[in-house]
Amino acid sequence: MMLRSLLSLTLGLEAILLARTLVLIAMIPPLVEMLPGAMSFTRPAPTQRTQRPSGHDIALSLGSSWIFALAGAVVIQADGLGLTRLIHEPGSPWWLAPLEFVAVLLLQDTLFYGLHRLMHHRLCYRWLHQGHHHSRHPTGWTAFAFDAGEGLLQAGFLVGVVFLIPLQSATLLALLLTMSAWAVVNHLDPVQQSGAPRSEWLGRWLIGPTHHGLHHLRPGRNYGLYFTFWDRICGTVEPSA
Ligand SMILES: [Zn+2]
Repeated sequence: MMLRSLLSLTLGLEAILLARTLVLIAMIPPLVEMLPGAMSFTRPAPTQRTQRPSGHDIALSLGSSWIFALAGAVVIQADGLGLTRLIHEPGSPWWLAPLEFVAVLLLQDTLFYGLHRLMHHRLCYRWLHQGHHHSRHPTGWTAFAFDAGEGLLQAGFLVGVVFLIPLQSATLLALLLTMSAWAVVNHLDPVQQSGAPRSEWLGRWLIGPTHHGLHHLRPGRNYGLYFTFWDRICGTVEPSA
């Protein structure tokens, strides 16, 4: 009975993840294009809309989405048994949600930086991260294209969060949406941007397609996920990013 409900939950979440991917890939490029010039670090290349997604990235993205769907199903079942630290009742102070939101992003950014560097080690790269780097010029599909090992590690972080950190369920949903949207933004084609002015303070501290696109062009630099400070502190920032 439990297994049947786990399977049906996984199927339902897989459909939701597929819809999320299609909606974000369709919506993010025109939305980002509307950003003012001061945020040009996130402006996609003019070629972005004609950039054809690679079949490899689509297949890997669809394959690894089952790992996230299964992880989500396990979390929902565990939550039903009262095993997670998710908070469903209102009543928390208003300032807690934004604080939790930023804290989880900072935690993920920090863990991802270390893990990302490890995944580029020659002993790990082939097994964990090669699939994500198949495209030197990424598209929205690349954002969710992970080898099984990397997918398990990334899903494991999210499962760990709900079991260890007291989070309001609305904050968790906002985090999942932000993480997914930011992943698509980071994988917009940066080809035309590498020479873009880099003086905007936002672009100095937040990661966008220029920063992460350079990582796909020249792996070994720009390992960060959301914020540039770990790359700056550890000396791995690409000078032109
Ligand atoms: Zn990488």
